[in-house]
Amino acid sequence: MTNPGNVTTGLDTPPDLKPLGPESPSSMRWQEELRLAYRDPRELGAKLHLPETMIRDALTVEGGFHLFAPRPYVGRMEPGRVDDPLLLQVWPQSHETQEREGFSRDPVLDGPSQRLPGVIQKYEGRALLVMTGACAVHCRYCFRRHFPYSEVPHSLRHWLPVLEELASDRSVHELILSGGDPLSLRDEMLLEFAEFVARMPYIRRVRVHTRWPVVIPERVTKGLLGVLAKLPQPVVVIHANHARELDENVADQIRKLLQAGCLVLNQAVLLRRVNDELDTLVALSERLIELRVVPYYLNELDRVAGGWHFDVSRTRALELMEGIQARLPGYAIPRLVRDEPGRPSKRWIF
Ligand SMILES: *Cc1c(COP(=O)(O)O)cnc(C)c1O
Ligand code: SF4
Repeated sequence: MTNPGNVTTGLDTPPDLKPLGPESPSSMRWQEELRLAYRDPRELGAKLHLPETMIRDALTVEGGFHLFAPRPYVGRMEPGRVDDPLLLQVWPQSHETQEREGFSRDPVLDGPSQRLPGVIQKYEGRALLVMTGACAVHCRYCFRRHFPYSEVPHSLRHWLPVLEELASDRSVHELILSGGDPLSLRDEMLLEFAEFVARMPYIRRVRVHTRWPVVIPERVTKGLLGVLAKLPQPVVVIHANHARELDENVADQIRKLLQAGCLVLNQAVLLRRVNDELDTLVALSERLIELRVVPYYLNELDRVAGGWHFDVSRTRALELMEGIQARLPGYAIPRLVRDEPGRPSKRWIF
């Protein structure tokens, strides 16, 4: 039985990190949005005028990976629209509690790939750090929704020995900050982290995978831009799945990331009813290019327990890619990939 109830995401618990300095007003704003996020399907349902049956269905999904949708993101949803592509990404459905063959708790075998606490390394030269379990949103399709976040280092003090070990490894030249969402950590902690990383002799690049700029754009603070500027060759991978997520406020924050010298890429997940239409994917790529964001990957769904209702068939995925190819220039076409454990890279499908 799929049981999202066992997750220890700690996603709505503030990261257990010591405050490292006085908080700036802008950092308080994004933390305030976490506090004010919708956690109860009844409240979000009332706000968006959703039918009672839909709310009752959501309430059957219990456990740690509960509804978590912050106001700036909810504000982009269309009231009354039960299949709003933003809503579907966060709305719990009773489908999640049904078991499906081929869908498991650790579909990409993160567990066996941990080389140090919190460090997943599958590919040459790149080490991925699970910095925190906290996120700006709970995405129902999340492949790490069952990840044992309580076992990763929880403060800079615990990260230091891990970083020291990585620093002596000549073969690792790119750090990928992931989670959860690494930008759930405070600027003060990230700054100390960045200062350490900047001194690691073999690290050429640091990549940040985050949904914050899309979900709660207020996260792009001056402090954060200062952190990014300290990192060698900063790459920020935003995770937008639909053009409607990229409103003017988000666009402004992306411009700040670009001005700070970041390479900004987008990674999307192909999701049934959210973005599995040709026009939707084309609009997403068009909007990304308009914002100077490179469409990097379109991921096939990782077959995580609780996420089967988002699955899109390979046939349909290829049909969509052919369609995109016929309509967009090469630089606007994301690569369709799948995370297949045991390979030296993601598998390129198209
Ligand atoms: C996806 C992933 C990466 C990044 O792969 P790229 O092809 O470089 O984007 C790195 N490490 C792990 C463990 C991953 O799952
Ligand atoms: S997909 Fe990313 S942002 Fe969404 S819940 Fe999972 S780790 Fe967090």
